[in-house]
Amino acid sequence: MRIDILTLFPEMFEGVLGASILGKAAEKGIVQYRVVNFRDYSESKHGTVDDMPYGGGGGMVLKPEPLFNAVEAVSEQAKPRVILMCPQGKPYRQQLAEELSQEQHLVLVCGHYEGYDERIREHLVTDEVSIGDYVLTGGELAAMVVVDSVVRLLPGALGNERSAVADSFSTGLLEHPHYTRPPEFRGWKVPDILLSGHHANIEHWRLKESLRRTMERRPELLDQIELTPEMKALLAELEEERKNSGRAKD
Ligand code: SAM
Repeated sequence: MRIDILTLFPEMFEGVLGASILGKAAEKGIVQYRVVNFRDYSESKHGTVDDMPYGGGGGMVLKPEPLFNAVEAVSEQAKPRVILMCPQGKPYRQQLAEELSQEQHLVLVCGHYEGYDERIREHLVTDEVSIGDYVLTGGELAAMVVVDSVVRLLPGALGNERSAVADSFSTGLLEHPHYTRPPEFRGWKVPDILLSGHHANIEHWRLKESLRRTMERRPELLDQIELTPEMKALLAELEEERKNSGRAKD
């Protein structure tokens, strides 16, 4: 996969793209990053990229020419997916990360200042993505979130392939709890079943705990997946446990 990031602050990406799994993925040749300062594609002598909004008002607006020129320069042959970082965009979710991880070439556009000339939205980009209902000073942090969540899904990027498949949201549920050694710490014990070595029972326990966590923290996710008979039975058990603990409190 190739990922081009168009930004006015390329230095912000140095640490992030060179470290840990993102850095290793590039070393292994799984992904190639290119961070492009779109000021280099300005058509003005002084490298201007923004201007005052027509109609007045505060803040500066990113001009269309530098971004159109930069996207066209990195696009070469096939048409890439061009993603605008934008608080008004589609809320970013694991499903979109999975979809983007199937692409050959992504171009991420990081805004700054008040906004973009609307023609960028209408005629240049294929997607607009928001990483949450809050406003950042620029799209760089949002682009890093997208790159990180996509690259970790590329085959070979994670040491343990299984870990991406079982992650929260990939299954439609939140992930089950994890424990490691020691088996007892300050009097708090690891659940016996995890020490039993019985894989089928462990998987059943994990599914139940995953459902418990989802039910407690993000119940709306349960409406978005197709429940298997095993899940339905476990949810009934959890409901029964909840009622019993309510009765015990009374
Ligand atoms: N005036 C804009 C508005 O109200 O929609 C906000 C502009 S913001 C100060 C500057 C840039 O930061 C945006 O163009 C976008 O690239 C990025 N940005 C801010 N919040 C974001 C979010 N939640 N998700 C993705 N990008 C964001």
